[in-house]
Amino acid sequence: MSVVNNLEEIRTRIAQACHKVDRNPNDVTIVAVTKYVSIETAKEALKAGITDLGENRLEEGMNKFDDIKHDATWHFIGTLQSRKVKEMIHAFDFVHSIERESIAKEIEKRVEDGRTISAFVQVNVTGEESKSGLTPDEVLPFIEKLAEYKAVRIVGLMTMAPHVEDPETVRPAFRALRELQQEIASKNFAHAPCTELSMGMSNDYEVAIEEGATYIRLGSCLVGNEKKG
Ligand SMILES: *Cc1c(COP(=O)(O)O)cnc(C)c1O
Repeated sequence: MSVVNNLEEIRTRIAQACHKVDRNPNDVTIVAVTKYVSIETAKEALKAGITDLGENRLEEGMNKFDDIKHDATWHFIGTLQSRKVKEMIHAFDFVHSIERESIAKEIEKRVEDGRTISAFVQVNVTGEESKSGLTPDEVLPFIEKLAEYKAVRIVGLMTMAPHVEDPETVRPAFRALRELQQEIASKNFAHAPCTELSMGMSNDYEVAIEEGATYIRLGSCLVGNEKKG
């Protein structure tokens, strides 16, 4: 299957999921996760109409895709280390994985020209040990603390659901993230509008959309996973 065909199928499914819950498909942004694929495939995705690309490793995001940097909005979806922040903000527009104050502090220190980095706070809704992210109770106090870092704008919350056979199983986790996002949005924090939800991957994006996802992160079902085999 080509990326173009995959995207057509995905768009149909997005439209169906949106229709079910009376949402506008234009409110769902597809982030094509290119971590497993070559630059040629990433270019194919852009040609097919994808505007947003996601990488979980800095070196991949920066070197491999150097020549298409300006053709896409870049999302960093991996785990961040303080010493890599400088490189990260150079190449990426969004970061989906803020979970430590030290990272916000580092962004504040490194950012230039009054730029702001759009960030999602990563939440581990189900408490899976293998996943990073804050527990749901930690999220509000954490966001309150980030008010002092002007370079970091909290646009929303992000989660990675457990990988399960039946995506219905993870619906409660997506719903819980949305409830938390709405609670934070209702506080009207100037530094944290928190209007967005980054949730849903290849195997569960329709359920995520039904529960309010505004950014879905799609790797294998869209661009494939050449490197994973
Ligand atoms: C790899 C990855 C994805 C995409 O996964 P697929 O199941 O291939 O769609 C999404 N989000 C994050 C954080 C990832 O690391």
